Formats: sequence, C-alpha cells, structure tokens
Amino acid sequence: MEIAVIAHDGKKADLVQFLNKNKAVLQNEKIKLIATGTTGSKAINAGFKTKTMLSGPLGGDAQIAARVAEGKTKLVFFFKDPLSSHAHEVDINMLLRVCDVHNVPIATNEASAQLLLNAIALQL
Ligand code: PGA
Repeated sequence: MEIAVIAHDGKKADLVQFLNKNKAVLQNEKIKLIATGTTGSKAINAGFKTKTMLSGPLGGDAQIAARVAEGKTKLVFFFKDPLSSHAHEVDINMLLRVCDVHNVPIATNEASAQLLLNAIALQL
C-alpha cells in the first residue's frame, strides 16, 4: 500500500515525530512511503525508506495527485499549516479535490492521520 506524506514547513517536525511514533506500522513491508521533496528528505533522514517527488511548490503535490488519480497512492497524510499561506495553494486544493474524486482518504492534521493509520494497522 502506497502512502503519501506531505508536510508544510511549519508542520515538518510534527510529521517526523508522527513517523517515528508509528515506526513499527510504517516500516511494515506492505507499506511504501512517498513524499514531496523536502518532506521526503526529512523522512529519509529519520530512517524511513521514502520515494521522493519534486518539492511541493515545484509540482510535488501535483505529482502525488496524479498518483492518486492513477490508483497508485491509496492514502495521503498531508500535515497542512493553516497559519501560513502558500504560493502553490492551487496545487494543494487540486490534491484535496482529486482525493475526493477518487475516494482516497486524506488526513490534513495529525489527529486524523493517527486514526487512519490505526485502522490500517489492523489490516496489516
Ligand atoms: P515539500 O512540499 O515537502 O517539498 O516542502 C510540501 C508542500 O508544501 O506541499
């Protein structure tokens, strides 16, 4: 199962903490992580095998949206920072829309991500 992880700058530390907290589940052989560029580097530095896309502002969110549309990415954890604005807001909204179009779960905060991951853990 391919899971995409994305975090805005103000949420990257929270995402790494979340990854570490859920290491046992996320490092299961059935799970493949992909990420936008900078988020992916942080995940790799934290010891997670992660396929990286372009950085979000350079099209990484759009690449992940394409993978959702193609049926490759099955779940998205997107730690959005609601307190800052982003040059690539249209790409972010596009990713949210594509997930809705294809009925792919997308968690935009840590509490939702944890609930989804708990459900995934039961299926592994
Ligand atoms: P980044 O992109 O991981 O390359 O910082 C995240 C985003 O802002 O979409």
